[in-house]
Amino acid sequence: MLASGSKGNAIFVSDGITSILFDAGLSGKEMERRLTSRKLSPACINAIVVSHEHSDHIQGVGVLARRYKIPVYINHQTYQAAKNSLGAIPDSIHFICGNDFSIGDLLIHPFSISHDANDPAGFTVKKNGAKLGIATDVGIVTSMVREHLKGCDIIILEANHDIQMLAQGPYPWPLKQRVKSRSGHLSNEDAKALLADVKHEKLKHVILAHLSETNNTHEKAFSTVVEALNGCEVNLIVAHQDSSSKIIWI
Ligand SMILES: [Zn+2]
Ligand SMILES: [Zn+2]
Repeated sequence: MLASGSKGNAIFVSDGITSILFDAGLSGKEMERRLTSRKLSPACINAIVVSHEHSDHIQGVGVLARRYKIPVYINHQTYQAAKNSLGAIPDSIHFICGNDFSIGDLLIHPFSISHDANDPAGFTVKKNGAKLGIATDVGIVTSMVREHLKGCDIIILEANHDIQMLAQGPYPWPLKQRVKSRSGHLSNEDAKALLADVKHEKLKHVILAHLSETNNTHEKAFSTVVEALNGCEVNLIVAHQDSSSKIIWI
């Protein structure tokens, strides 16, 4: 996790040959800094895959794509909404939610999620029987989200807010409603319930992502969600906004 939260998101995924960024929501310069902080070179990125058009997911996409000639995988509606912010993209490839595509040996499945964007996507990434699931910016947990997160070795899951902190916090009422809505963000409790449903003996790592800096704390997210994983040998970590996380190897 290079960054996670409403000020910018980026996930680095690699099989050692093909390296992909899922979103690049920091400035180009900060994206480079986060990569090099983990001894990763921006020049080794083979593709950027975009989940949706919100600026915390695309801010650095155009700069990186142009500077390092990186192809950008984005669905059509997201591209239409994002193109002014992205600027010229040397090579853009339009995926369709529901249809698999491959980048190198990594098989990617984009699936529709409920969020206030044009055609937002979660993803699974598979290779050699290993499976990673990515679901952030999820309004509600649909059966589609639940099905796709089954059988994962690693799950990156949104735990955006603590319900009480959101209710009592400083956000104006309409924004509170938006965050809680079917097209907003998942609470710690939502993440806990979803993990209780999809956990299995092969699940090794869960990364809590997109935490609100106003309406959540790392401690609250961790202590709520960990209850769902009782009895499982799962490494539960919380991703940061201001720094990259340690690389997880499987
Ligand atoms: Zn976001
Ligand atoms: Zn969003």
